[in-house]
Amino acid sequence: MNCEYSIVNIRLENSQFIIDHSQNYSLPITPLLMNLQERDRAVNWHPYTQMKTADDAIPIVRGKGIYLFDDQGNKYIDAVSSWWVTLHGHAHPYIAQRVSEQLNTLEQVIFAGFTHEPAIQLSENLLNLLPENQEKVFYSDNGSTAVEVALKMCIQFAYNKEKEKNKILAFKNAYHGDTFGAMSVSGRSVWTKPFGEMLFEVIFIDTPTSENLESLKNQIENHADEIACFIYEPLIQGAAGMLMYEAQHLDELMKFCRENEILMIQDEVFTGFGRTGKLFAANYLSEKPDIMCFSKGLTGGTMPMGITTCSNEIFNAFLSDDKYKTLFHGHSFTANPLACTAALASMELLLKEETLNNINLICEKHLNFSKTLRQHSKVENIRQTGTILAWEIKNDEQTSYFNEIGKILYNEFLKRGIIMRPLGNVMYLVPPYCITSDELDFIYQNIIGVLNQTINIAEKQNILSNN
Ligand SMILES: *Cc1c(COP(=O)(O)O)cnc(C)c1O
Repeated sequence: MNCEYSIVNIRLENSQFIIDHSQNYSLPITPLLMNLQERDRAVNWHPYTQMKTADDAIPIVRGKGIYLFDDQGNKYIDAVSSWWVTLHGHAHPYIAQRVSEQLNTLEQVIFAGFTHEPAIQLSENLLNLLPENQEKVFYSDNGSTAVEVALKMCIQFAYNKEKEKNKILAFKNAYHGDTFGAMSVSGRSVWTKPFGEMLFEVIFIDTPTSENLESLKNQIENHADEIACFIYEPLIQGAAGMLMYEAQHLDELMKFCRENEILMIQDEVFTGFGRTGKLFAANYLSEKPDIMCFSKGLTGGTMPMGITTCSNEIFNAFLSDDKYKTLFHGHSFTANPLACTAALASMELLLKEETLNNINLICEKHLNFSKTLRQHSKVENIRQTGTILAWEIKNDEQTSYFNEIGKILYNEFLKRGIIMRPLGNVMYLVPPYCITSDELDFIYQNIIGVLNQTINIAEKQNILSNN
């Protein structure tokens, strides 16, 4: 079915729409001489991008498996899973088929007063895989909103119980998203600087080690009565540069929070769905969080969706005849049936023996490669959690997002057909699970090649130190 009339040749006369056939309207004609990059530059503002100095964005026309194809016919291995979201590769035919069927059945419905099978099934399937205290699912649109919902649950939990608890505990260097609440509980950095005073107060502590645990407990104890919740990225702080810490130490902190009646929000937006080598980071922990957040890999990286799960203890605190105790939060697209279906299909693929075996293979191969990396004179701080491998390029400057070496490396990998996105001098691999052994070897070889080559260039440019 075509839409015959556009808004431009319809006018309103005496409260009636008149279609003006004399007007011949068509969509703006794309200037024929402009290519995709020039058209993009004219109209688009990209995320986390200084548009003044950024190179032109590469137009991607197609994806298949671990590969992305640009408009010039070049192909790239997506070694960062497109910002950590793609689990089973691009344009996965099974997810496409399921979403397409759903698209022809029910594309969207208001989720207040109505429900649908994909949301019910997804909640059932997900809860089945989570720690058994997780019993309710709240849907939203992305990782940041999943975090907002979690924070609101905790603050209102205290409010509903008439307790004065409104401080939040978080880790230094944390990243929980870019909306205001999520930004507030993230480490203060150049990203949050312009909003300084507007972010609410948070008690920031270091990530736990065997040495600092007691001192961390002391810091918490000093504020224990006021702290509503503790939010953390379990095992790995992704955006901060893939900083890793031990499950056993987190367990101790969690136990201490539980004893002090501090609710725990486990942000598994990045770590969820197999990234850590287990289905969830929760599978490394014996303590159970009260609330969990998911997004990124939730739909296999095909559609935006966020989920916040919680225990019945949290949920029950909102049950009341008093309407002020309701959780007044929702988004237009809450539990969108297409996104739910994509998530169901992705989780089916994830639990296949073939996928789980391949996750194991990635973990093993990363472990072996890290031994090779360890021998490289310019590499340090090699670390791995499951399918996530990270390392740093030795450098005089302090590790920082703006470290120049990042851009040099990024471009060099692109030339070799691999998408890597270093965080400053921190390099990492977060590949889709469908990657083969040979494809991993190809990436590893190029990493060594690029390290040798780039470091020579960089040394000449005096970006790196000479020692
Ligand atoms: C990416 C990320 C978020 C934010 O998710 P968005 O979908 O980008 O809003 C939150 N928490 C963690 C741990 C993340 O890695």
